[in-house]
Amino acid sequence: MKHIAILGSTGSIGTQTLNVIRRHPDQFVAEVLVAGSNAELLIKQALEFHPNIAIIADKSKYTQVNDALKESDTKVFAGMESVCDAMEMEEVDTVMAAIVGVAGLTPTMRAIRAGKTIALANKETMVVAGAIVTEEARRNKVAILPVDSEHSAIFQTLQGEYLNRIDKILLTASGGSMRGRCREELEKATLDEVLRHPNWNMGRKVTIDSATLMNKGLEVIEAKWLFNVETDRIEVLIHPQSIVHSMVQFEDGSIKAQIGTPTMETPIQYALTYPRRIESMLPRFSFFEHPELTFARPDTKTFRCLALAYDAIAKGGNMPCVMNAANEVAVQRFIEGGLRFTEIADFVEGAMAKMAFIADPTLEQLLECDKETRKALCKV
Ligand code: NDP
Repeated sequence: MKHIAILGSTGSIGTQTLNVIRRHPDQFVAEVLVAGSNAELLIKQALEFHPNIAIIADKSKYTQVNDALKESDTKVFAGMESVCDAMEMEEVDTVMAAIVGVAGLTPTMRAIRAGKTIALANKETMVVAGAIVTEEARRNKVAILPVDSEHSAIFQTLQGEYLNRIDKILLTASGGSMRGRCREELEKATLDEVLRHPNWNMGRKVTIDSATLMNKGLEVIEAKWLFNVETDRIEVLIHPQSIVHSMVQFEDGSIKAQIGTPTMETPIQYALTYPRRIESMLPRFSFFEHPELTFARPDTKTFRCLALAYDAIAKGGNMPCVMNAANEVAVQRFIEGGLRFTEIADFVEGAMAKMAFIADPTLEQLLECDKETRKALCKV
């Protein structure tokens, strides 16, 4: 039995994690559920899964959740301090890190320090503080198991290859909802169009990041830290079908790929059962139904966010943190109608040019840098 805490249980990854748990009640227990502000869904989940603890980060929703769960055995807490404290609970052995954005970093670090196995969906944690997170995991002998489908694919292809050097990671990208559009079309892109991802049903932020290709940039940085590979060995391929979830090329030229129907429940389940595989009952992939798998170079002149991510990680230090904070602000502004789609990259680039560089930041300096970047951007 695995006892799981889900950070972000009300989100796209969180609800799909609960689908996996629902299908395998003999293997998993949802011990802690953490929501941001969606009290209704958290209550519903708690009434179904009977967690030990339910936490709502938004303190103003505490009474609503507590009143609804008064008759149940679930204890209710609110606020980020409670989220972090819950990461140290003895009953929890695995944490599904699926909060969106840099908000996921602090509780994930607490879970690592408490020795919990991390199933990592929250890529921003690695982007902002990859060096510190991986070093802390090494020190605490904690496994970080990737949930992102591309990183899960790479992780799966590396099984049995630990003595072999990676020559190249071939990171696939669907290209998102704006794939193939020219600059003029992108300037007019509406929020509804951008949110219409052809293959994946995901949260809003990652869907917009997918359309700008910032998501792929964040994933390049995540892959660097997870697999200890320099970014000049990480190549992005546009693969619109999202069937080949990523590949690894070894020194002898052999390429191994992980392939399957695009559903996040496969990588979520693998992270929860690793190193075992268990029955999933998910639809099986058929090559006969998908006879054409295509690959192309990304257009980084039109979709500049991917190039900005390579720049940020090449500069290192706090630059990926600045880039991430600026991107989170820019995406929010695009959602609110304050930025055009094409202005997201300009906004991120402007922040990267403006903020002071710190070569070897501590975790505290990175959290401060995140705040400072957001503050500086309020005035833009
Ligand atoms: P969603 O927007 O669907 O969900 C985000 C979750 O985080 C919600 O449960 C939300 O709570 C919670 N949350 C947001 N802010 C806070 C906060 N300050 N404190 C506590 N909880 C908070 O996102 P996704 O599930 O799509 O993505 C989650 C992470 O996984 C992202 O980093 C994304 O890049 C990554 N990822 C997602 C994939 C996908 O298929 N969705 C694929 C690969 C990676 P509430 O809704 O209650 O406010």
